[in-house]
Amino acid sequence: MEKFMIPAAEKILKGDKMLKSIDTDVFESLRTKNVDALIAAKNSGSRIIGMYCAYCPRELILAAGAIPIGLCGTVESAIPDAEKDLPRNLCPMVKSSYGLAVSDKCPYFALSDMVIGETTCDGKKKMFEIMESKNIKDVYVMHLPQMPDNNVSVDLWLSELRRLKDYLGKKFHVQITDAKLREAIHITNEEKRVLQKLLDLNQQQPVLISGMDMLKITYRIGFHPDRKEAIRLIEQVADGVNRAFPAGDLKTKRILLTGTPVGIGSEKVIKLVEESNALIVAQENCGGYKNVGLHIDENDPIDPLLLMARKYMKIPCSVMSPNNDRIDLIKKMIRDFHIDGVIDLTWQACHTYNLESYMVAKAVKDDMGLPFLHLETDYSQSDVETLRVRIEAFLEMIN
Ligand code: SF4
Ligand code: SF4
Repeated sequence: MEKFMIPAAEKILKGDKMLKSIDTDVFESLRTKNVDALIAAKNSGSRIIGMYCAYCPRELILAAGAIPIGLCGTVESAIPDAEKDLPRNLCPMVKSSYGLAVSDKCPYFALSDMVIGETTCDGKKKMFEIMESKNIKDVYVMHLPQMPDNNVSVDLWLSELRRLKDYLGKKFHVQITDAKLREAIHITNEEKRVLQKLLDLNQQQPVLISGMDMLKITYRIGFHPDRKEAIRLIEQVADGVNRAFPAGDLKTKRILLTGTPVGIGSEKVIKLVEESNALIVAQENCGGYKNVGLHIDENDPIDPLLLMARKYMKIPCSVMSPNNDRIDLIKKMIRDFHIDGVIDLTWQACHTYNLESYMVAKAVKDDMGLPFLHLETDYSQSDVETLRVRIEAFLEMIN
């Protein structure tokens, strides 16, 4: 005779996965699949271009018929290799990115035909110089203006986009036409649209997707070689979320994480918050919400490179001065995602995010009346218990 079970108990016995609104298994396996697909694409003649920043104009890479891949280092294991050449007192993201490149431990770097860097922060721009001197890869550096959304900056960035367009055209013997750029703009717009659709699901109460699950999806999908397929996958996940199994309940504290970017390997703050029974419902950082709302008007008939220049000069990164758009975005996210408290994460030796924390704290505490916690850390596990104590004390403060 078949054993009778209460449906809820059956779900619990089948494992945690049954209780989640979302199945992240498909994304867990993407790392290996992505590498295999990239090798196949390269063997059939595709070019691969590595990127290190949200300012990298991926539309130009797509219009050149190449595959854009993010190469920002998020793992601690690459740092000892970096510290052979770079100072220890440097942002872990810069060190990890460099370490992965010089140690040949990153398949995505190895598969790249060239990499594009930008003069965002001092650490990155000097690291690119050293990387170039190693002659391990063609390193192309773009000069980033640092006054946002201003005509002078837009003109400067436009000239940098033109310089890159010429470079890619000559290097890969391709003609980057306006039609190809417009197609690439459309793909990039679509990607932002579906990503925002997924991230916005957490505006619901209770929260549907934990910060860790969201990170697994958004991080892994970023390495997919086929952006159209990536768009389809993200939309499928967003549409398939099972609202019957939210990640928390109505009492779960809803935390906004802002600051430096986080990836798989550097997710310790997200983990600690969620191990303390709160949830990271949204992230104002690259990889999260920082630029998902920046779309280009596909019906605007002007030079597509100018449209791109205007868009990129609106990314609210702390390397911009002033960076008022970031403060406005944080306030909007606090309202839209019903946030109870804000954690501002700074990677050690990142001066721009560290300094900008003053403005963020003022906006969160004084203007929005919410608890605020600034954490400065690196990729190591050595301070995990100290961070846990600080995070638990912060969560206690939230009513
Ligand atoms: S935080 Fe700023 S510098 Fe870092 S990846 Fe994002 S846009 Fe680039
Ligand atoms: S986190 Fe800060 S220091 Fe590190 S790469 Fe980004 S802007 Fe530069």
